[in-house]
Amino acid sequence: MQRIGRRLAVAAAALTAVAVIASPAGAGAGAPAECFDRATEPYTSQVDSHLHFRPFGGQAIPFDELNGYLRKSGVRHASMYGIGQTLPVDSTCTYYLDCPGTPVAPSMRNDFVNAANYAAAKPEDPELAVSMTFLDLNHPETIPPGISLYDKEFPGVFRWAGEVNLVKQALFANEHTPATIENIRNWAPFMKVLRERGIPITIHSDLGNDEEQTKYLPLMEETLRQYPDNKIVWAHMGLSKELATMDPDRHIAIMTRLLDQYPDLTLDLSWRVLEDNYFGKPGVRSKYAAFLDRYPTRAIPGTDFVASRAKDYAVYEEELEVTSRINRALGDRAFRNIALGENYYRLLGLREHAPRVCRTR
Ligand SMILES: [Zn+2]
Repeated sequence: MQRIGRRLAVAAAALTAVAVIASPAGAGAGAPAECFDRATEPYTSQVDSHLHFRPFGGQAIPFDELNGYLRKSGVRHASMYGIGQTLPVDSTCTYYLDCPGTPVAPSMRNDFVNAANYAAAKPEDPELAVSMTFLDLNHPETIPPGISLYDKEFPGVFRWAGEVNLVKQALFANEHTPATIENIRNWAPFMKVLRERGIPITIHSDLGNDEEQTKYLPLMEETLRQYPDNKIVWAHMGLSKELATMDPDRHIAIMTRLLDQYPDLTLDLSWRVLEDNYFGKPGVRSKYAAFLDRYPTRAIPGTDFVASRAKDYAVYEEELEVTSRINRALGDRAFRNIALGENYYRLLGLREHAPRVCRTR
């Protein structure tokens, strides 16, 4: 009986396929393409897993306008981050680096605005995964009650966590201090909640700086050791403006070791700093492309765009293009998994699948 059912299903699928091909409407009417042709279609990523809908301070790009940017640029799915470092409400600053001495801290404000915007519109194109960004990793005892509050106000809305700051050197002038090994151990209650719900958490954890390149690696390693079964996403592969001159071979060796050791670790390729300081340098792109081809299921793309009102579509389009340049160097398998979104869909448990890449003749 089962076998007949399956055979019928196969036959039905074949008929559907014929119908799609025979349809005079063609692909222009939104019918799914048979395969993705890399020679004629854009190399820009179709998912943006690292997108801050809220700025550090000041006005944000309106929700509908930003969604329009995504549609226009071919981004079909995005993670809707707040911002892990908000300026005080009475501050006139829009960027923390311009205001050393002004404290920045995680806040619930931006998550509530995001969740309210999302819940009112529930957009399907782009499809958005709302993220909890309020997590203060230095004060983990505040996190479980915060999640309970979110559950009460916005049940089922939050499907991602982060970007949260474990150690971010760029914030040191704004009273941010790295989480300690002791703090990391005390994350257990909230990490359990995320694990049980299958919620990925994007962690910003600088690897080090140009003077001491792996100064902070022990913090990320402790995190992975303590929480090997959490879906941990390492923002920017630990790279930053403070660490602009690391030998790519050394960096790739560390990433390789940790990917091998921790099967639930995913690398986040977001932020144009990666292209500007690493991938774009002579001889470096091919090294990272080869690395990603060896681990095609272990990375997700993103822009790290911050939706401050001072920016417009041209800025988003540029950041998407720059952060997508690495895609051109990838083999078809990594391209489909990373750029076309398969890894992102799997990480989020979505039923969506990326199109397969057309075989080149
Ligand atoms: Zn970010």
